[in-house]
Amino acid sequence: MTFQDLNLNTPLYNAIEDLGFVNPTPIQSKAFNIVASGKDVVGIAQTGTGKTFAYMLPILRHLKYSRQDNPRVLVLVPTRELVVQVVEEIEKLSKYINNRILGVYGGTNINTQKQAVAQGQDIIVATPGRLYDLAVSRVLQLKSIQKLVIDEVDVMLDLGFRHQLMNIFDILPERRQNIMFSATMTQDVDELITDFFISPTKVSIAVSGTPLENITQKRYNIPNFHTKVNLLENLLHNTNEFSRVLIFVAYKKMADRLFEKLEALFPGDTCVIHSNKTQNYRLRSIEQFGNGEHRILVATDVMARGLDIEDVSHVINFDTPEYPENYMHRIGRTGRAEKEGHALLFSTEKEQDSKDAIEALMAMRIALLPLPDEVEISKELIDEERLQIRERNNPTKRSLDDDVGPAFHEKKAKNKKENLGGSYRREIAKKYKKPKTRGDKNYNRRNKKRK
Ligand code: AMP
Repeated sequence: MTFQDLNLNTPLYNAIEDLGFVNPTPIQSKAFNIVASGKDVVGIAQTGTGKTFAYMLPILRHLKYSRQDNPRVLVLVPTRELVVQVVEEIEKLSKYINNRILGVYGGTNINTQKQAVAQGQDIIVATPGRLYDLAVSRVLQLKSIQKLVIDEVDVMLDLGFRHQLMNIFDILPERRQNIMFSATMTQDVDELITDFFISPTKVSIAVSGTPLENITQKRYNIPNFHTKVNLLENLLHNTNEFSRVLIFVAYKKMADRLFEKLEALFPGDTCVIHSNKTQNYRLRSIEQFGNGEHRILVATDVMARGLDIEDVSHVINFDTPEYPENYMHRIGRTGRAEKEGHALLFSTEKEQDSKDAIEALMAMRIALLPLPDEVEISKELIDEERLQIRERNNPTKRSLDDDVGPAFHEKKAKNKKENLGGSYRREIAKKYKKPKTRGDKNYNRRNKKRK
């Protein structure tokens, strides 16, 4: 596909030509018509795939010239660096278009931003917190927003911006197009889509289900967290083979918990990255892992996206990712530059379905290894595992031994009342002893006769 195949206009063609771009990227070709249609859209694409233009091209194509001061397009992104970057990209595309674009983010003088907003804007690119502050101050009016783009939603939710997003949704016009881009599919992203999007169309560049040939994949069935740690300990003692190990976990709490365990077992060997760590901490961890100071890095999916580290000997999936695409992204961190890489997958009983989905995506089975004899099978469960067991038995179905017995005290009189509904009608009926409505003539006649 070429840019000629997209329904662009001359100012956009010319801007693209000036940039020297020849063909649209796959996500740009796929997203153009769908975004242009005005329907809610969820795009799954990583940074570097051209995702910014994927949503901006169709938006700019249909944004008409206007003199009104209130912005019509709102782009929310998680960090100020991204605000700057997205504004730059939009400006490049707008070289021959007369539109006003403003980037706003926290940590800078809000009054300067208020003045800029007051001058009138067409497109606002913002971090959620500052956007909300500006909206609450009433300088920024959101009533004309027609298109809401949320970029890097996975990072945004991982950083804890869900509440901020809810607040912003509340003050946006209900009739608007929602466009969302995320690099990874996570539980949080899935929930947000279900709660706030109207039957969105999904666009993604199919993640290749064909793993690199130079990555060997093996898997273990392991009953629980503590046994997984025991197996890790057993494997990681082999420092020659496991020379640079990237361990993936699904969420922050698990990352911290595993980091503590590994730090106790292999002091000074381990570092960790997830979104609750400061940017400096994360950068330092990545650097120390990259230069070999630390042999083991524990990371969450969202935070490990941008990692480009050479010579990772092993990728260990400490849990089995629910979205098979995440598995492909994870194992792609090893076996780079044609070197041999190894990927290991740990799955509990409960994770077997996810394991099956991964194998289905790759259209191949992952060889199962037996747990080494020396690895102790732990009976101890962590909180999440105990919770899951309770969920598996239907919690509303009580067995006899579960009988909770009588309440500690009698209910107070007012709590004993049963709500029968329609209280006013009942009161009236009691008072007049016969229906008050004219429609009940027959009933009245019958009663009269009896008297
Ligand atoms: P993004 O994924 O939006 O962060 O974009 C990654 C980089 O690719 C940016 O520097 C864009 O300017 C560039 N880019 C976007 N679309 C194209 C294209 N069709 N051809 C070549 N480069 C592109």
